[in-house]
Amino acid sequence: MSSIAERLRAGSDPKFPENANTVEYAENLDANDSLCQLRDQFVLPTKASIRKKALDGRSPSSVEHTKTGTACSGELKTNGANGHPKDVSAANEDSDQAIYFVGNSLGAQPKAVREYVDAQLETWASVGVGGHFTDMEDSPLVAWQDMAEDCAKKSADLVGASPSEIVIMNTLTANLHLMMASFYRPTEKRHKVILEWRPFPSDHYVIESQIQWHGLDPKKSMVQIQPDENFYLSTEKILATIDENADETAMVLLPGIQYYSGQLLDIPTITKHAQDRGIVVGWDLAHAAGNVELKLHDWNVDWACWCTYKYICAGPGSIAGAFVHERHGAVEYSTGFEAPRFRHRLSGWYGDDKSGRFNMDNKFKPTPGAGGFQLSNPSAIDLASLSAALSVFAQTNMHDLRSKSLVLTAYAQHLLDSIISDSDGEPPFRIITPRDPRERGTQLSVLVREELMDAVSKALVDSGVVCDKRKPGVIRVAPVALYCTFKDVYTFMKIFRKALGA
Ligand SMILES: *Cc1c(COP(=O)(O)O)cnc(C)c1O
Repeated sequence: MSSIAERLRAGSDPKFPENANTVEYAENLDANDSLCQLRDQFVLPTKASIRKKALDGRSPSSVEHTKTGTACSGELKTNGANGHPKDVSAANEDSDQAIYFVGNSLGAQPKAVREYVDAQLETWASVGVGGHFTDMEDSPLVAWQDMAEDCAKKSADLVGASPSEIVIMNTLTANLHLMMASFYRPTEKRHKVILEWRPFPSDHYVIESQIQWHGLDPKKSMVQIQPDENFYLSTEKILATIDENADETAMVLLPGIQYYSGQLLDIPTITKHAQDRGIVVGWDLAHAAGNVELKLHDWNVDWACWCTYKYICAGPGSIAGAFVHERHGAVEYSTGFEAPRFRHRLSGWYGDDKSGRFNMDNKFKPTPGAGGFQLSNPSAIDLASLSAALSVFAQTNMHDLRSKSLVLTAYAQHLLDSIISDSDGEPPFRIITPRDPRERGTQLSVLVREELMDAVSKALVDSGVVCDKRKPGVIRVAPVALYCTFKDVYTFMKIFRKALGA
């Protein structure tokens, strides 16, 4: 499998064999997958559990691979012990796992979350306010005061930054506003923000309302880059749009991965091109963090934001992350300890350096780095959940996850291609995600012919497939390397092919 990944990294044909569309081939890829044990770290929904309408005191049972046999190709046996007391009896009836291909919307639940949140509840109940400063022995967690920093440290590999360039706080949209408050400083001449044709609504609203907040007109200050007829945003087009507006642009704000098409943009090239023209560059990494390899520091990105509930699996609405390049986070005391100099930002007491945070002297002396952008005492429950998710990432690294993900997605594309080549007449769908593996993450966006969409949606739901449909007609298929298998991809395609009547 690693040789396929290497070919994909070079942008070459993965060369799947004749028998690729067989369950044996898919199982063989799983057997050779060095990350396959990570799936056991998750509680995945089952076909029965996704239909649940009321709580019954138990989570879906997890499936564990037998100790004997090839790593992950062995016969599956159910294991009810996922940390929840009442689920043992249910192990058999709902062990039939659903196909969870929607990690681009909400990542699956790591088993560690329950353990970490339980530890937090016990700490809070036991020592109360003392939990802020107490490192409890035998707890997977550090003292509440240190948790955000601890999570920043554990996020370093995910985004390619030093821990001090990362702050864990708030939620994605709130952080986009905070970063724009600091980095979008329009002048009469430079006031434009360059974005893409179809930003996520929240990103659009952030940019629009920030422009209005400065008393400017979004019609004059928002520049949207248009894609070609395949929803593709070529780097040339992006650079040309930057050139056309170079002197009037204050900021470029783009998604690392476009949520609709699944296209991964060329972050380093775009960043450098815009910065060379005096433009500040921010990235929304909601669909990129935990999905593809990022090197925010080396790419000299000014700032970036991401949520942690998609590929990072910290749970719905969980606490988010932001990156501020070290050159923007410096705090200088050259003019005296009472007059630190630092980049202006909207500030709060948790941005104060830890050493003086509780002096309550109302003299803002920010933590050097991204931490100085923090506002509030962060939710320790949220941070427990994120710590748990990051503990799964700590068992691997983004390079290995990306290698698996490249192959998973290429395999999915290969099987989709074979459905198209086996169908007569007009193809039932087309893939709008770039075919070059270097220009996408895990997600493939499949644009299904409109008249087939209802039947396809129903068939997927009926067969226990959880994936995301965006009107009109796009099914976003995201096999996530942490917890999806090649057999999942194979089974999904069998169901999809049947649903299309192909
Ligand atoms: C998921 C997503 C959001 C969601 O923002 P929240 O503040 O977390 O609700 C915003 N922007 C993009 C690009 C997203 O993919």
